[in-house]
Order: sequence, then C-alpha cells, then structure tokens
Amino acid sequence: MTETPVPVLMYHSVATAPNDATRELSVAPEAFSEQMALIGDLGLAPVNTAALAACWRTGRPLPPRPVLVTFDDGYEGVHRHALPVLAKHGFAATLFVSTGWIRGAHDTGGGPDAMLDWDQVRELAATDVEIGGHSHTHPQLDQLDDETLRHELIHCKGIVADELGTVPASFAYPYGYSSRRVRTAVRETGYAQALAVGNDLARRRQGPYALRRVTVRRTTGIEEFERLVEGRAIARNFARDRALTKGYAMVRRARQVRRKAIRSRV
Ligand SMILES: [Zn+2]
Repeated sequence: MTETPVPVLMYHSVATAPNDATRELSVAPEAFSEQMALIGDLGLAPVNTAALAACWRTGRPLPPRPVLVTFDDGYEGVHRHALPVLAKHGFAATLFVSTGWIRGAHDTGGGPDAMLDWDQVRELAATDVEIGGHSHTHPQLDQLDDETLRHELIHCKGIVADELGTVPASFAYPYGYSSRRVRTAVRETGYAQALAVGNDLARRRQGPYALRRVTVRRTTGIEEFERLVEGRAIARNFARDRALTKGYAMVRRARQVRRKAIRSRV
C-alpha cells in the first residue's frame, strides 16, 4: 500500500471583488487560472474526494501525482470563474456546500457573499465536480448539542440528495475543525469521508474522517502555490526557496517556448 501524501487544496470564493468577510480566503480569477495552468504544467492529476478516499480504502492505485481541488461553502464565483477553467483543463474538483447558504428553497439567508443557486450547483455536478456536504448553517459543529449536530448533518445530506438526485459521500467540517463526537456523527450520517484543515498533506494514516487540507489565500503567490502542490514545506530554507523559484522560472520558460511552437505551427 502506497503512503504517498496528497496535496488537498482548500479554496473558498473565486472573485474579482469579494466583500470584507470573504476577502482573505478568496482568490482572484486570474490567480486561480494561473494556479490550474501550473497544475497542468507540472503534470499533476486532479481527482475528487470520493476517488481519493476510495483508492485509500480499497488499495486501488491512485493516478501518479494526484492533487485535490476543493471549494467550501458554495460561492457564486465557483460557477462563474472556476468552472470554465476546470472544464478547459478537464480537472476534477469537489464543492462542499452549506445547504442553508445556497440561494433558493432552503436559503437561511446566512451566506457571507454572493452564493450559488441550485441550478448552478447542478451544472457543476454535471461536469467533473463532486458535490459534498458542509453542514446546513455552517456552525462550529463541536459546540452543538447532539440533536442539533445530527440535524445539521442529516438536513444537509437530505437537501443535496433531493436537489441533485445523488446522496453526497464526502463532507468538509465548517472551520476545518472536528472533535471525535463530530467525526462519529458524520460517519453515522452516512458520509464515507471528511476533510479537515491542517496545512499539511493528506495521508492515508490520518483516517478517512480527518484528511488534511492546505489553505489557498488571496495572498498565496504562484511560487508558494507551487511549493504547496509539490508537497514541500513553505519557506523551509532560503536555498530551497531559490531552487524552487528557479524551477518555476524554468516551467514558465518551457511554457513560453511551447506557446511559441504552437503559434508558429498555425
Ligand atoms: Zn466553510
């Protein structure tokens, strides 16, 4: 059994003009586009959450150099900006929705910025985007009593199943945090795997209900992003940073050469 660690990227909103509440955890559409192009240039293979967990559960091999692209909450920019980029590259991704934040029949009005509606979620689901659960109203799950906790998990799962016709298999903890009681409740609700946050690579030994993710922020530059997806610690030492920077310069040059080659062919 391979123990290859896998970078699981956590995005929130992709937006040109995010509001103050979501700014830090949003990325600009141009940055997202550049990041996906780099994933393609590096030859990484995006897979969705259920596929990663299934491979780790069964011992089936993962593609070489897997990476996960995940989005939390359900921001409108995932449809407007991220979907065309993902589709262009043919990349799989996962969207974790807080069902009470999605515009439409189940809206509790709590969405922090412009949110998706269910038609847009269905459009995403019709491509290679897995739709997972992220609770109904995005509370700190460990602070809830048992009954409210169960309601948050079951209601979210039921709404996704009703709206999409597919029962969600993956879950992401609001705020990236869980307790043992929360993990047990998530498992008993029927989710097969769940993602946390930990600024670490996901590893099989973390267990299917505590897989870690790394945060992509508005301030994440392309070189730091490359270190994240290459699975290297950030800024471990200057020499390594320099080597990586040079490495990305080479990737960029190779890309330019290839573009020129393509242009000269037409
Ligand atoms: Zn969230």
